[in-house]
Amino acid sequence: MRIIQTDLLCLGAGLAGERVAIEAADNGFSAICLSIVPARRSHSSAAQGGMQAALGNSAMGEGDSPDVHFADTVKGSDWGCDQEVARLFVDAAPVAMRQMAFWGVPWNRVVPGEQTYYKGGKPFTAVEKAENEGLIHSRNFGGTAKWRTCYTSDGTGHCVLYTLDNRAAQMGVNVVDKVEAIALIHDGDTCMGAIARCLKTGELTAYLARATLVATGGFGRIYRESTNAVICDGGGLITALDTGVVSLGNMEAVQFHPTGIVPTDILVTEGCRGDGGTLLDKNEYRFMPDYEPEKAELASRDVVSRRMTEHMRKGLGVPSPYGDHLWLDIRHLGEQHIRTKLREVDEICQSFLGVDPVHQLIPVRPTQHYSMGGVRTNKDGAAYGLKGLFAAGEASCWDMHGFNRLGGNSLAETVVAGMIVGGKIVEFLKGSETTFSTAAVRDAMARQTARIADLVACKNGSENPYTVRNAMFDSIMQGAGIFRNGADLEKCVGELQEILGRARKVGLRSNGKGANPELTMALKIEGMVKLALCVAYGALQRTESRGAHTREDFPARNDRDWLKRTLATWDEGADLPTLNYEPATGIFEMPPGDRGYGGGQIIPMEGK
Ligand SMILES: Cc1cc2nc3c(=O)[nH]c(=O)nc-3n(C[C@H](O)[C@H](O)[C@H](O)COP(=O)(O)OP(=O)(O)OC[C@H]3O[C@@H](n4cnc5c(N)ncnc54)[C@H](O)[C@@H]3O)c2cc1C
Repeated sequence: MRIIQTDLLCLGAGLAGERVAIEAADNGFSAICLSIVPARRSHSSAAQGGMQAALGNSAMGEGDSPDVHFADTVKGSDWGCDQEVARLFVDAAPVAMRQMAFWGVPWNRVVPGEQTYYKGGKPFTAVEKAENEGLIHSRNFGGTAKWRTCYTSDGTGHCVLYTLDNRAAQMGVNVVDKVEAIALIHDGDTCMGAIARCLKTGELTAYLARATLVATGGFGRIYRESTNAVICDGGGLITALDTGVVSLGNMEAVQFHPTGIVPTDILVTEGCRGDGGTLLDKNEYRFMPDYEPEKAELASRDVVSRRMTEHMRKGLGVPSPYGDHLWLDIRHLGEQHIRTKLREVDEICQSFLGVDPVHQLIPVRPTQHYSMGGVRTNKDGAAYGLKGLFAAGEASCWDMHGFNRLGGNSLAETVVAGMIVGGKIVEFLKGSETTFSTAAVRDAMARQTARIADLVACKNGSENPYTVRNAMFDSIMQGAGIFRNGADLEKCVGELQEILGRARKVGLRSNGKGANPELTMALKIEGMVKLALCVAYGALQRTESRGAHTREDFPARNDRDWLKRTLATWDEGADLPTLNYEPATGIFEMPPGDRGYGGGQIIPMEGK
């Protein structure tokens, strides 16, 4: 058996995984990051828009502070977040942005003098102060009171990830790609690392670690229409759920982004609307101000996505062979602005749609985009249920996002959580020793070896893993999308249970154990369907509407009964998750109130 030992094992080499690994390496611990793809191809590199931090350097950010950022974050979360975590985050975000600058991120900077910006489709001028020349600039992003989104043109994720990957290399972090974690090694009490499969040779390796971090990103690929990369299939969450003791938090909290392009579902950044892009219907009428007079296109993502869907349901969408869509109009921003500040949007539209956004409208529809749910952790990033297991980034439910994360808050979360959770992991590594159990390692390895042999031999059946996946897509797209209701969710849960039965009977047509995509899919399809069930069953039980979770049969946000977080675990052999609940937040720095957009009724907390 191939065994590799390290202090810290990060499942994932995106921004969160690498940032945590750097913290450990900086403190003298050995760190390994595993990744399906080369680190720089992690999904973080696709983020165009930017990262939120209250620096207050720009004219439109003047007067900003962590307090204002905190209020935006809590309102955005529809009071579903852990307010202590949101506070930790907003206070540390400015430090993290400056640290990124120190490490080499080429942030766009303030240029003094009169500048033209856009809001609500209209240009206006603002004067940038001479004394702020060269400080980190910021742009407008959905749902914020001040402009605080730091950016590097429209390639923020790309620049920050490259910078962190360089830093990780400098610090001696061992980043291993084309390796996929398929199970955690544990004894029901302590996590001791993971079993990982080489995607080139098929060889299994036991990575033994004193601390293990799940940083595998979102699980958007359980939906057919998603802006997520194909590697965002929830691999780390599946390994956590399979332990039977680790909880996943708020899996029903799934964000849809208003502007996925049709039909490829590639995202065009929120920066388009932030910079003044408008949404038009089939009559080329700008409809958002009718629904949201105050914020219009800049209301939070859950609100804009819902309003778009509502508008299309009225028959005002643009018919297309791929279903109805709406238009995003950025033409009025002008050629200079689009070709420079929205360069990537320009390229995406030209390459994938044959549309020139300087002169033409862009077809868009709301598309699955972000997973607020994930491995539930405490404020130190430690997972519930297993000592030595941590989570950070989109794979986690650290929970500063509640039921809707703000644009720009998740990239920032990766590096801020990376810094904070990384620090806590360092304390953990300094303060405790792990005893590795040879029985746990041997059992984990034997189990995975047997699973692969069974799949290759079609021992449990010969269901096609891709057919099963497509059935899951149909079910979840239909039952657990933007608008949800009891009847559809019940149907969806029933269908997914049946699909889970089929996922347990998959077998291979191909027989290679090495570079074999069919085997890779077969190994994770049961877990993906389980994640889909956590979403749909959690959504069925949550009889209220909060943030991105909208129940047509329970339209009010119910602070009396549902100011709580769903915790899902999975017992071996079960065909549904076990759901438990905990209070959404231990501390109310900001008591529940109106978000100021989106409308909707609120059932107040008892005693309010
Ligand atoms: C198109 C798009 C644009 C976005 N733009 C913005 C934005 O402008 N601002 C913002 O704040 N947020 C944005 N987001 C969200 C943000 O990019 C992500 O939340 C964030 O980058 C996630 O980082 P991460 O490190 O948690 O995960 P990722 O960057 O997704 O990294 C996950 C890592 O885990 C690895 N991995 C996965 N499964 C396994 C496994 N089983 N074993 C081993 N390794 C595994 C992958 O190879 C990868 O290295 C955007 C998201 C999308 C989809």
